[in-house]
Amino acid sequence: MTTGRAPAAKKSLGQHFLVDRSVLRRIVEAADLSCGDTVVEIGPGRGVLTRELARRAGRVVAVEIDRGLVDVLEGRLSESPGVEVVWADARTVDLESLVPRDSPYKVVANLPYYSASPIVRRFLGAAHKPALMVVMVQREVAQSMAAAPGRMGLMSVAVQLYGRPRIVCSVPPRSFRPAPRVTSAVVRIDVLPAPAVELDSEERFFTLVRAAFSAPRKQLRNSLSHGLSVDPAVAERMLVEARIDHRRRSATVSLEEWGSLYAAFRRLLPAGVCAADRAARPC
Ligand code: SAM
Repeated sequence: MTTGRAPAAKKSLGQHFLVDRSVLRRIVEAADLSCGDTVVEIGPGRGVLTRELARRAGRVVAVEIDRGLVDVLEGRLSESPGVEVVWADARTVDLESLVPRDSPYKVVANLPYYSASPIVRRFLGAAHKPALMVVMVQREVAQSMAAAPGRMGLMSVAVQLYGRPRIVCSVPPRSFRPAPRVTSAVVRIDVLPAPAVELDSEERFFTLVRAAFSAPRKQLRNSLSHGLSVDPAVAERMLVEARIDHRRRSATVSLEEWGSLYAAFRRLLPAGVCAADRAARPC
């Protein structure tokens, strides 16, 4: 265990440490913490946010990929009760080893830019989801998560299927050391008790959504035909059944409409019929 100086920031691990206490306060306030809460923090870094979380929550499980920082943190946080530092990669760590299945939890994190989206999607898609996520990400990613129909992308659907995102605040580069090149934003995602669309298979749902976004500038009839490798007439039939104008673009489709389109997709193209199913990969 080391209590000395923290190692130099590693850009490859997205290490931009928060130095602005007003942003720290906004993050912690947005998480509505009380002493009964368990918090999973991804990337505690040098522990500035971890310490604030430990003051308000009953238990903090902090997952850090950098072994050098884990050693420093264990020393620095030895006075903070209820904090457990886990040396692991948040993209692959067994989530149930962090929080047992029957315990509710929240995720609060200043995420590394390079893997913010996969980490958010991993928690939202998990069998044991958090009740709430408050995360700092690149501003464009935050805007995409919270986008309304007209500006939606794959990320908007992937987040809004499971939760209600809201941007809490924008955060300028000067709030970090070293300063990143981009502006960040804090997003709060209130996780829904059940997905916003009734689904038999989340994997198949995302096969459809990814297909529609495979050519976002094209009209839906063509992007679906291209993405699913089906005849344009079949794509058009799906859109008619879902009551969606085939000339619209994928960015304009609301979550409710994705639900109708998915129902039509299942009726017209049962599992395994289209090439996109066979090439399916997780969102
Ligand atoms: N929480 C600290 C703060 O606010 O100052 C540090 C935030 S820094 C943006 C991101 C942190 O995530 C770094 O400590 C980095 O080492 C860690 N990290 C990067 N990739 C990770 C991963 N895949 N799993 C867990 N931690 C990761």
